[in-house]
Amino acid sequence: MPTFLFHDIIIGPIRSRRMGLSLGVNLLPTDHKFCNFNCIYCECGLNEQVPKNYVPHLPSHKEVIEHLAVSLQTVEQKPDAITFAGNGEPTIHPEFAEIIHDVIVLRNTHSPQSEVVVLTNATQLHKPHILSALQEVDRCMFKLDSAIPETIAAINQPAQRDYLENFVHNIQAFKGKKIIQTMFLRGTVCGKTIDNTTDTEIDALIALYKKLRADEVFVYSIQRDTPLPLKTVSHEELSSIAQKIQAAGIVVRIS
Ligand code: SF4
Repeated sequence: MPTFLFHDIIIGPIRSRRMGLSLGVNLLPTDHKFCNFNCIYCECGLNEQVPKNYVPHLPSHKEVIEHLAVSLQTVEQKPDAITFAGNGEPTIHPEFAEIIHDVIVLRNTHSPQSEVVVLTNATQLHKPHILSALQEVDRCMFKLDSAIPETIAAINQPAQRDYLENFVHNIQAFKGKKIIQTMFLRGTVCGKTIDNTTDTEIDALIALYKKLRADEVFVYSIQRDTPLPLKTVSHEELSSIAQKIQAAGIVVRIS
């Protein structure tokens, strides 16, 4: 099924379900996806085979700041959010921490009302400079699509071994507001049924949200084309999942 890439460093601003009017920042290549996950629902498509030790061409710190400065000074309407997302995991950019620092300075100068938001899979949070940069932003949203390792392997295909163990350790160390986002979906991939909406999955997720002391959980489902044929979860079902999460004393939103 057709997917799409962000063909620029700065995208939008565009209306987003979760962020309002959002100016996107893409720290990844503009001609292909590069990520340390390979989510079966990724709107940028599945990962391409790359040679071992492949080094992607990423926008430099200077380019990102220059492009963002122009956008913030020329947009008709100041954005509600400056959102780091794009063609892969933003925190794998080698200058991520320096970029965050300068984006906050730019935001303070040109658009003080805009929140700086990072959507991340938290795989780089064990690095002190990434942890500290993420603690500087207004909103950091951590991806967690299951609390069961086999389901994570099927949905997210993380490159990192022991991803879940590391995720728990890293989120517990994070001192900012802990916002978790969980994508619910169903499908059959390579003959294997994937469904993270079962009672077992929801109970395991709730236990993990509690263990992490999540401040807020966003639940959502597929809204755009996916690289594999997957089924979206209806708003009614998301509401019922949200009610179970809320009954466990966790703040939850459907987006
Ligand atoms: S972490 Fe995000 S960019 Fe990476 S594969 Fe998953 S959905 Fe795509």
